[in-house]
Formats: sequence, C-alpha cells, structure tokens
Amino acid sequence: IKKIGVLTSGGDAPGMNAAIRAVVRACAYYHTECVGFYRGYQGMIEGDYIALNARSVRNILPYGGTILQSARSKEFKTQEGRAKAAEKLKEAEVDALVLIGGDGTFRGGVALSKEHDIPCIGVPGTIDNDISGTNFTIGYDTALNTVVEAIDKIRDTASSHNRLFFVEVMGRDAGFIALNSGIGAGAEEILIPEEDLGLERLLDSLERSRRSGKTSSIVVVSEGDKIGKNVFELAEYVKENLPYYDAKVTVLGHIQRGGKPTCFDRVLASRLCVKAVELLMDGKRDVMVGIVNNDITYTSISEALKTEHTVNKDLLRISDILST
Ligand code: ADP
Repeated sequence: IKKIGVLTSGGDAPGMNAAIRAVVRACAYYHTECVGFYRGYQGMIEGDYIALNARSVRNILPYGGTILQSARSKEFKTQEGRAKAAEKLKEAEVDALVLIGGDGTFRGGVALSKEHDIPCIGVPGTIDNDISGTNFTIGYDTALNTVVEAIDKIRDTASSHNRLFFVEVMGRDAGFIALNSGIGAGAEEILIPEEDLGLERLLDSLERSRRSGKTSSIVVVSEGDKIGKNVFELAEYVKENLPYYDAKVTVLGHIQRGGKPTCFDRVLASRLCVKAVELLMDGKRDVMVGIVNNDITYTSISEALKTEHTVNKDLLRISDILST
C-alpha cells in the first residue's frame, strides 16, 4: 500500500477531525502517502481531494465538525457513480481507503470494494452508536454530554414553573442516546424505539409521579420512538389527559452533532484510526474497526451491517428504579 485515501461521509459527528488526524499521522509514521477526499463520496466522484501530511492536520484535534466536510451522495449509490469514483481513485493512485462514517458509508464501501477491487476499512463515526461490532462509535460520547448538559438546564426552568418537559433527542432507530442521557440527566421516563412503553403506561407513570410529590418532570423521547405520536402530539395528548400538567416540548436537534469532542471520543478516534491504517498495512480489507471491552478489534463490514443492535435491558431497569 503506497497511498491511502480518507474521507468522512454521511451524518457528521464530533471526533471526526481527531479521526482524520490519526489516519494522516499513522500514514506518515508508516511512510505511506495520504490524501483526503472532500465531501465524502461526492468529492471522490469529482476528484476533489488534497494531499495530507503530518503537518496538514495540526491543531484540528479539539474541533467538532470535519475539515474534509461530509455529504450524502446520491450518485455514489449508482454503479455509474461508483465507476466514476474508481476512475478518480486510479488517477490519484490511491490504493486503499479509510471510510469514516455510519452504515450507509459502509454499504458504499462494500459496493466499491466488490465492483472495483479497492480495499476499504470502515471506522464507525456517528453520534447514534447504532453500529454492530463496536461498543462505541466516534461522536456518541460527546453527543451524550451535550444532551445531558441541555437537560440539566431544562430541568432548572422546569422545576421553577412546575412543568413537564418532553425533550426529543437524536438517535435514528436506536435509543442509545435517549436511554443513556435519560439516566445521566435523571429523566422520569425515557421513550425509545426498541421498547414500546405504551401511552397508558406513560400516563400512569406521570400520574404516579405527581402523586408522589414530584412537581416537575422530564421525559426524554428518542426521535425514532414508535409510540405512534410525534413529540408535539405526545405533549398535547398528555395535556388533554392530565390537565394539571403544563407540558412543553424541546427538540434538541443539531446541537447534538456539534461541539468539541470529549476526551473519550478523541482517544477512541485515535485508537480506531491508527488500527485502521495498520490493518491496511497488514493486507486486511473490507473490515470495520471497533472497540469491544476496551480492546480495539475488527469485524467484516458485511457482518457489522447485518447484525441488529440490541438495547441494554439493564439500563431500562435502572431507569425504572431510579425514577421512583
Ligand atoms: P451514514 O454513513 O451516516 O449512515 P448515509 O446513509 O447518508 O450516512 O450514507 C452516506 C453515503 O454513503 C450516502 O450518501 C451514499 O453516497 C453512500 N451509500 C449509502 N448507502 C449506500 C448503498 N446501499 N450503496 C452505495 N452507497 C451507499
């Protein structure tokens, strides 16, 4: 392997810069050239890239976002698009790729590798933590901390006015952010896609809370929750059925994707990306690096895409106990 290409793709996540830096520095350490493609697969199709050396990535470690930018490329989902990308890779003399992103990004890598024989290593970078084969994805810890800080602030105003707040958090079809931030911020209820709490139980629980003397409450709602109502309808429904509650809604939105990465995410990104480069050096391909029980490991990308993620039932139990 003489030249490695790196890109960030799909939903951005804090820590992607730390990841780019680690790829570039590991390449320099192992005397391999490195180029970065702008805007994920779209930049690859357009041949929009830059040569990166150890000094090109100075001072980017603490910053959120991604200096290479990210994009969703419709064209890359087509065979013709991928053929164009492969042509540009040949022109740039790139012989392997490190792909930092989520499951969509990895699907693209599998297709490119199959059709054009380009070795790819996936690095899980998404705030949602919804990738199998790793306990943690880059950006998840930072997003959790952002959410907890926001809910702490919402609780201040909730308790001043005896209010009930529904706080919607990100996570796509996974409840990791909701469940962990909910416990971290002491939410009364947590609604996640993996478990249908049911509207009746929610009302019961809020009613019980009030009777037990709670004057304000926080309900964390995952954006992918399948209770059958969106967060605004949910608040209306509770107001209709429990009129003594002044229910408000806060949708945290994209603040969850920004900010300085936590130390955890920086270390994770650094470890995963050094490993990614080393695997390519060792002739490995089409695997995703991950962290499992604090060891850096790897699994085949197709396996990582296949398996369903599961929710930690013990966390649900803990949340139930603590919201008594
Ligand atoms: P994420 O990587 O965060 O899941 P996306 O699902 O948007 O984000 O995927 C990122 C990019 O990967 C897409 O814009 C597209 O270019 C490419 N991609 C996604 N799915 C596929 C697929 N099935 N085949 C080829 N490329 C894909």
